Amino acid sequence: MQRADPQDFARVLSSMCTIPHPEARAAAQRFLATNPGDPGTYETVAALEAEAIETLGRIAGLSDAAGYVASGGTEANIQAVRIARNRARDRDGVTDPNVVAPESAHFSFTKAADVLGIELRRAPLRDYRADADAMAEFIDDQTVLVVGVAGTTEYGRVDPIPEIAALAEAHDALCHVDAAWGGFVLPFTDHDWNFEHASIDTMTIDPHKMGQAVVPAGGLLARSSELLDPLAIDTPYLESTGQVTLTGTRSGAGVASAVAAMEALWPDGYRTAARTAQENAEWFATALTERGYDVVPPELPLVATDIPQSTIKKLRDREWRVSKTGAGELRVVMMPHVTREMLRSFLDDLDRLD
Ligand code: PLP
Repeated sequence: MQRADPQDFARVLSSMCTIPHPEARAAAQRFLATNPGDPGTYETVAALEAEAIETLGRIAGLSDAAGYVASGGTEANIQAVRIARNRARDRDGVTDPNVVAPESAHFSFTKAADVLGIELRRAPLRDYRADADAMAEFIDDQTVLVVGVAGTTEYGRVDPIPEIAALAEAHDALCHVDAAWGGFVLPFTDHDWNFEHASIDTMTIDPHKMGQAVVPAGGLLARSSELLDPLAIDTPYLESTGQVTLTGTRSGAGVASAVAAMEALWPDGYRTAARTAQENAEWFATALTERGYDVVPPELPLVATDIPQSTIKKLRDREWRVSKTGAGELRVVMMPHVTREMLRSFLDDLDRLD
């Protein structure tokens, strides 16, 4: 039997997935054949999903959170855009909707724009972060959603969420925060990123990334259940009467594993993981700087550095699973499976290649 084990992750440095917590793995196995998309039939996993949302809400500073466990950050982001589009259409008659996001927003927003027929306006950054003044220039009376990222995919930067939320509010648009990757690290930092810090409407926060759940387990949170109404579709042949999710049949394994991982790790286990990851990021950044490479200082546990493309290729030939930013920098994500030993071994290979 083939099963993913630590060996498979021994050289994985650029992924945002990781080895699931043992409890998450066991829970996933128990709920493998269940479908939270049919809560009338699969009541236990439906109850677990409610628990998952409650805990995700707690992590994101939101009591009485609404939402659901999605297939990942992509689905959660698409759904956030869909909520904003439908709400503005039904309430205000907006016919030519646009979404304003920073250039650093994940490419899932490009998919959302394509699927939903909205215009995505990407505003330029300042020092790798969203620039609220630049974003303001892109907003008009057809803007339905303003997006901030709390933990960007390429550089791990946190946008000025309170400013972005204020912009959205001033223009009567919704505010969505994409904390797909950052959401399980940010509670242990002093960044203003969550529902307590700003008037946020929806958030993406994925258990299958830093949350150490199995894939697929993404998270969509909404400040209130009314915000999910614009997603509701009648479900005539099911016991339940409506569905707000994008997919129909969904993974009960993802849901159960998210609950198990969060039960096991929130908050102390995640705090320890976040601290270790940040220490590793800073240690690795220093080691690269000492070798003469330019490094983007790691604000969260993600290091980008300007290693030449030919060297990156040689590292890949040595089975290091590394990828590049859009600008071509090597990008290392300090996921829980990335240990100091792995980083030392990587640097040894890098030294030999240079
Ligand atoms: N948002 C951010 C910030 C991400 O980093 C990613 C993936 O890396 C996503 C969304 C998309 O998540 P997924 O790949 O789970 O769909």
